Amino acid sequence: MKANIKDFDPQELEGFIFELGEKPYRAKQIGAWIFTKSACTFSEMTDLSLSFREKLEESAEIRSTLDLINEQESADGTKKYLFELTDGNRIESVLIPDGKRNTLCISSQVGCAMGCTFCLTARVGRIRNLSCSEIVDQYLYVNKLNGGCVTNIVYMGMGEPLDNLENTVKSLRIFTDPNYIGLSPRRITVSTSGLIHKIKELSEKVSVNLSVSLNAPTNSIRDEIMPVNKRFPISALLKECKRFPILRRKFLTFEYVIINDINDGKADAHELAKLLKGIKCKINLIPFNEAAPIKYKTPPIDRVLEFQNILGSYGLNVKIRKSRGSDILGACGQLAASYPLDKKTKKVIH
Ligand code: SAH
Ligand code: SF4
Repeated sequence: MKANIKDFDPQELEGFIFELGEKPYRAKQIGAWIFTKSACTFSEMTDLSLSFREKLEESAEIRSTLDLINEQESADGTKKYLFELTDGNRIESVLIPDGKRNTLCISSQVGCAMGCTFCLTARVGRIRNLSCSEIVDQYLYVNKLNGGCVTNIVYMGMGEPLDNLENTVKSLRIFTDPNYIGLSPRRITVSTSGLIHKIKELSEKVSVNLSVSLNAPTNSIRDEIMPVNKRFPISALLKECKRFPILRRKFLTFEYVIINDINDGKADAHELAKLLKGIKCKINLIPFNEAAPIKYKTPPIDRVLEFQNILGSYGLNVKIRKSRGSDILGACGQLAASYPLDKKTKKVIH
């Protein structure tokens, strides 16, 4: 099969073009055609010579990797897109409008290997990494369908982006390169469950915002709900977070999925505050989104507010994140790409 041009990051595209005997700067023209002018064929690229276009056609393709299977709109305006990949696997992307900001939540893997007990994607297990073109196509597709409205991107859909670091980085380069999609790095956030050996690598390769799904104030709670904690315990994770280069006037974000009777006690809030004191960060409290067959419950709102107040009393910047799109299972942790669940085993049937 011919190479899909959207699998090359800007530097790789230059190298590819150089090998075809052309000047590397031509990559910028091709990038602009594909990513800002939505070209689907090389023949449309009229500012390239005919012979170059023919050479490109012989060695590469501009292939769309996604087939839209279903689109659902929530009462709050959130839209969930179910895509089928060329091998039949399925992924979801979610568009969340909020005033002038339209945030696209994209997937980085089919399923996820990390096994967090509160997350529906974990039930799918890790099927495979998404390619760079499959990550970028989610943006191209949804942005086009919605009149070019996407302003922000979060890697908070299905999968652990740092478990697919190579293609995550390539896609970030395409999103942020001024000659390609040209989004400001300040508008892009990568969320991780805490693969600390990959956090440093990410920061060495691209500048973006980092969000860490902390979700627990102690190792004993985190071990239970996020098995990754047994490999990378909280102290090591926070040490790595402190080293992460934060963009100007931005913060590191900690996500905290607050779950009834698991991590929502007053003592948990005090522990968490002590843990994060002195780190330039903001905390997003995400009330657990219920999703059958997961047994956890959302805490009552006054318990969430109390938790927020305790953190606030330590001077921490903490917001409660509104649940968006939960009526269409489009909220955090509710993405499972409609893989059916076996009623007895509660495992996904592939
Ligand atoms: N794998 C990455 C990114 C995808 S998960 C990560 O874990 O950070 C995106 C966010 O959804 C994470 O902060 C995660 O803690 C949260 N999440 C998962 N399941 C959830 C649920 N059922 N309710 C609320 N948030 C959930
Ligand atoms: Fe994977 Fe993130 Fe879900 Fe954990 S919360 S299983 S890391 S997608």
